[in-house]
Formats: sequence, C-alpha cells, structure tokens
Amino acid sequence: MSVSKKVYLFANWKMYLDYDESNILANALVVASTDFAKKIKMVIFSSALSFYPVAQVLSDVGIASGAQNVHFEDKGGFTGENSAVMYKNAGAKFSLVGHSERRHLFGETNHEVHQKMEASLSVDLIPVLCVGETSKERKADKAKDVVEIQLRAALDNLKWKPKSKLFIAYEPVWAIGTGNHCDPIEAEKMCAMIVKMANSLAKETEVVLLYGGSANGGNIKEFLKQPSISGVLVGGASTKLDSWLQIVQNAS
Ligand code: PEP
Repeated sequence: MSVSKKVYLFANWKMYLDYDESNILANALVVASTDFAKKIKMVIFSSALSFYPVAQVLSDVGIASGAQNVHFEDKGGFTGENSAVMYKNAGAKFSLVGHSERRHLFGETNHEVHQKMEASLSVDLIPVLCVGETSKERKADKAKDVVEIQLRAALDNLKWKPKSKLFIAYEPVWAIGTGNHCDPIEAEKMCAMIVKMANSLAKETEVVLLYGGSANGGNIKEFLKQPSISGVLVGGASTKLDSWLQIVQNAS
C-alpha cells in the first residue's frame, strides 16, 4: 500500500507584492483552492502591510498565514517592527525565523534567531527555522559546520509543547533567488543531517524538513522524492499565480 505523505508548500512573498497585488493573488488562490489536493498544507507569508486582509481571505479555505519576520519583544519602542504576539492576534499561525535575507541583509545574529524562536513559541506561533550556508562556506567545505552552529544556537533550551512539529527549511544561500537550485541529492544529504541533529536537540518534537532555493514547478518533484524532504519554501515562483499553481499541481 502506498502512503501519501503530507506535503508542505510554503510561499514567501517577501517584498515582491504590494497591497493590491497581494490581495489579488490571495483571492485568486481562494478560487483555485478547490483543486488543491487534500495532502497539501499551504502557508502564505505575505508582507506585513498586506498580512491582515490576506490572512482573513485565505483562512476561509484552510490556507494558513505566517509572518515573514517577528520581533522578539511583545511591545515597545522598536520603530518599524511587529512582534510575534501582534502577528498572532492578527491571525498568523506560523513565523519565518532566520531567513537568510534577514541574516545576511539585516545582520540578524544566531542569538536573535534564538530569541525569535522563543518569542514565536511563547505565543503559539509555529516557527519555521531557516538555515543554510553561503557559497563561500560551501566551497570551503564548511556547509555542515555552519548549519550545525545555526541549529544549535536556534534550538538551544527551547520549550516545546508535546507533539509539536519543528519545521526547518534548509535554504542554501547561494540557491535563493538565483535560479540555481541545489542538486536534490545534495539537498537530501544536508536535510538528513539536519533531521538527525534537530532530533537530538529538540527530542520532544517531530522534525519536518523543507527545501528552499529556486524551487519551481520543474524541480519540485525531484525534491519531494527525497526521503528527508517533506515540502518546499518558495520565494520568487510563489509570487505569480501560474508558477505557484504549477508547483501545487506537480506536488499533488
Ligand atoms: C526564499 O525566499 O526562501 C526562497 C527560497 O526564495 P526563491 O524561491 O526565490 O529562491
């Protein structure tokens, strides 16, 4: 008997779509959602500006929403920021934590990533921890070491509720937004290592691995074939209806 495993399709719209564009795409997804296979769990990470109306519209058809970034304090003088609890109150179920663009463009440290994991868990937002090496680190044969350091820092001493899922997106930095995806076999090697390590660092959780980095309708099947990979985190190809629906169709 073949068991159809759950497939996680997470869409990071980054800062690609403005308010109107976000709402138009969200409404188009609602219309298309009757064709989505039952095994697909979809989460949309829209911009902070569009978050509330998009989350409302999507929740009617069972598509969850998440924050692209959260601040670890609940409230205070942090101009331009939004906290985990604010997102929770606005309808978020998930949060992206440690995305490479936050780490590399905004100088987010491993310590801050840990604080954001804590803040998310404290309000029952499900964090999606992003880890991955740069091309320089890969060439220097340091990919595993870098990812191990990121995992240890992020997962150290967190308090998980029983039966929590721990989502981790392996996103090699050199593959993000470049059109140059990681070879699925290589991604599997990294993901298998991450699953093993995460299982030992967060024993009480069920670890779920996603791949991210130029995933699209043409390569999704190869990633989902890999035993350790349960889904994808997609940037560019998730911001247009056609390319996202191609991913959904090929993942079904
Ligand atoms: C991402 O932003 O997490 C990502 C994987 O982007 P892209 O799919 O555009 O490479």
